[in-house]
Amino acid sequence: MMPDDPMEDDRTDFLRELIFNDRLHGTALEITRRVIEWGEGALSEKERYVFQRNVIEVFVTDECSRRGCRIPWSEMYQAHDNGGMCGDCRHMDAKIMNRSLADG
Ligand SMILES: [Zn+2]
Repeated sequence: MMPDDPMEDDRTDFLRELIFNDRLHGTALEITRRVIEWGEGALSEKERYVFQRNVIEVFVTDECSRRGCRIPWSEMYQAHDNGGMCGDCRHMDAKIMNRSLADG
């Protein structure tokens, strides 16, 4: 991602949320702190690999598991905890669930 990408700020917020919620430890935590402060460009090749493997691949959901929608960074942390759904689908799911409970 380019440094002037407007999405970058949102991604930084997401990374902060991971740290705030105590989801990162050891090297992953250290490297993520560095990314927040200096950007991914400040990492060595090895560190970038660790960042991708231990942070991005673990916590980032590319596509919503319900309809394949693109998940915005602002919903990324929640998506990780709710089976990979975007905000819209999560609400929709909750609604359907409530209705079937009421009908049943
Ligand atoms: Zn969705």
